[in-house]
Amino acid sequence: MQGQMMKLPLIISSLLEHAERYHGDTEIVSRTLEGGIHRYTYADAHARSKRLANALCRLGVRNGDRVGTLAWNGYRHMELYYGVSGFGAITHTINPRLFPEQVGWIVNDADDYVLCFDLTFTSLVESIAPHCPGVKYWVAMTDRQHMPAANIPNLLCYEELLAAESAEFIWPRLDEDSAATLCYTSGTTGNPKGVLYSHRSTMLHAFASSLPDALCLSARDVILPVVPMFHVNAWGLPYSAPLVGAKLVFPGAALDGESLFELFENEQVTFSAGVPTVWLSLLQHLRKNATRLSSVQRMIVGGAACPPALMQAFHQEFGIRIQHAWGMTEMSPLGTVNTLKQSHLDLDEEARFAIGVKQGRPPFGIDLKIVDDDGNELPRDGKTSGALLVRGHWVLDSYYRKDACPLLDGWFPTGDVATLDADGFMQITDRSKDVIKSGGEWISSIELENIAMSHAAVAEAAALGIAHPKWDERPLLVVVKKTDREVSREEILAEYPGKVARFCIPDDVVFIDELPHTATGKVSKVQLREQLSAYRWPEAAPSPR
Ligand code: AMP
Repeated sequence: MQGQMMKLPLIISSLLEHAERYHGDTEIVSRTLEGGIHRYTYADAHARSKRLANALCRLGVRNGDRVGTLAWNGYRHMELYYGVSGFGAITHTINPRLFPEQVGWIVNDADDYVLCFDLTFTSLVESIAPHCPGVKYWVAMTDRQHMPAANIPNLLCYEELLAAESAEFIWPRLDEDSAATLCYTSGTTGNPKGVLYSHRSTMLHAFASSLPDALCLSARDVILPVVPMFHVNAWGLPYSAPLVGAKLVFPGAALDGESLFELFENEQVTFSAGVPTVWLSLLQHLRKNATRLSSVQRMIVGGAACPPALMQAFHQEFGIRIQHAWGMTEMSPLGTVNTLKQSHLDLDEEARFAIGVKQGRPPFGIDLKIVDDDGNELPRDGKTSGALLVRGHWVLDSYYRKDACPLLDGWFPTGDVATLDADGFMQITDRSKDVIKSGGEWISSIELENIAMSHAAVAEAAALGIAHPKWDERPLLVVVKKTDREVSREEILAEYPGKVARFCIPDDVVFIDELPHTATGKVSKVQLREQLSAYRWPEAAPSPR
């Protein structure tokens, strides 16, 4: 017997329809590239998304076609999220921090029909356009007055396109399983791969990520996504904000501590999300100017392991608890968020902090397990680490235009190594390719990095396994000192005894000026290895055991 309830498809356009009807005067505020602040409402965003849909249809974009974007977080990018996916085409967000050749490769692999770009990326577009013959139109996301004088074929002006259209458009009742957005992985090994999200997966992700034990979003929130809209849909915030009716604040290209602080205060932001380096620069700004954030209630950190020292500094000096979250492009991205359970409420500060540094527990809709090399499930004891596998309603099934199935018995291998505890909290100990394998034991590079970063003179640190004649690999610590601070190899190594087993202590420390980062802000260990290829262990390296 079938249930007798309505079946309305879970489609992205319904989010903006809801936001217009029930939160029509709630604001979307953007720092623009042309200069200044732009303000409008969900009602305005909906009307302009419909104009955009009309304009794209007039340009010949059809259901299933890809529309690329090279853009910061801003209101026009938000319109592309809805105006493209809303009528059945696919919003393809591209990371502009990649090398031009990679961007061009991705545009061609996705087979983008139109590509919309922010003015910052004019010269990038100029350089790739000759190599991307499939793109029929290049649209500069600005008005006529600011149109770039650039050598780009079929260059159109976004505001002119919208001005020529009506704001009447009836969103089609799409199949909820149809594709809505496309985002490529960062491709640290080999070419990037496309992850094609469906309307349904995006909607379920938006529902789940808004829950109190996830991001805890509501119509009383002012949300500032620092995490870029070109990286896994800004962790879904452009969807979950209209779902709950929260005010949105977009920072544009100004992601430094001072600019963010100004926006946080002027717009009274209550919730924000970003990678550790963003919060580090905000922390430096707060310290330097002896100032505080007056409205922030929750700050989420993810994308890379957050050094506990950063969490501690925000909490102790500014009374803000940074919450850890973990996910990946293949997971839309949310996998876990760190929120306490009822049984933790009586714990003292130290015990709470020990839980807070973990990556968190999954909301309903995501399942996790850890396995050994033979695929056997490992205990959830908070100690045993193994390869982390996931499955769920917003987890990838197969890559865009790739036949090979990436799943293992219906589970997606994340490439992360983690522990799971009895309360369901997951802690990443490494990327599987970064684990340091020494004398048959595994050493967590993240743990070594966190200890180094707790030293007051250390700005950033990375631990690498370097080949060793006796132990297979031994840990080498690479350190960037804070400006104007001095610290010696011995002082850093003195941080380790008592915190990790003796065999885990790095054998040597190398100081460099800057660590190489990937386009998504993670330390690039591949590049770092290349940079240090001439490194040799000191002859008198101490015995690890
Ligand atoms: P991406 O697909 O570019 O978002 O990268 C996903 C990867 O980033 C994950 O598989 C992890 O290795 C890493 N990552 C994301 N969030 C965290 C976190 N909170 N702690 C540690 N690593 C993280």
